Amino acid sequence: MAVNESMIDALAAAREEAFRDHDVETLAKHNIVVTTIEKVLNWGRAHSFWPATFGLACCTIEMMATAGARYDLSRFGYELFRASPRQADLIIIPGPVSWKLKPLVERVYHQMAEPKYVIAMGNCAISGGPFRDSYAVVPGADSFLPVDVYIPGCPPRPEALLHGLLQLRRKVLDPQVVSGVEAAEKS
Ligand code: SF4
Repeated sequence: MAVNESMIDALAAAREEAFRDHDVETLAKHNIVVTTIEKVLNWGRAHSFWPATFGLACCTIEMMATAGARYDLSRFGYELFRASPRQADLIIIPGPVSWKLKPLVERVYHQMAEPKYVIAMGNCAISGGPFRDSYAVVPGADSFLPVDVYIPGCPPRPEALLHGLLQLRRKVLDPQVVSGVEAAEKS
């Protein structure tokens, strides 16, 4: 197709139109994306959580099932469970934390690099669950860790863990998003 003057004028006009409003979506249509480094980094983090290989009790079985072929965790980019906390950016607390184990869980968390995230998986991790009144169990992981997402259930099914991971993705992409418990406390 021959390029004539009127086509060039039309392209130039479209380009000027896009820049006049500085509207990101319009700019994107013209292959120009305006963003911040932090947003780009968060986009990468939100699509590639590396959970620590870490289990506590029966909820761990559901966590392991989530990583199996049936639930295909890798489609979200989260399948790389790391054997070393130094390579992980997410710790899933899948069960009750006993007072005896608490310092070790804390140590695993502190060995992870920033930024790092915490998911409380199951009623035990949220509040102690059926062991809440026990002398031996911490009444909720958020009493010593900054929990980002709470997943209720005893145990939560793999679909619930997937949903929790996607909620964490939302939170990383938009730091204004708060977890359900935080929202309830604020209201
Ligand atoms: S919430 Fe239920 S399934 Fe999960 S660790 Fe506690 S008792 Fe086990």
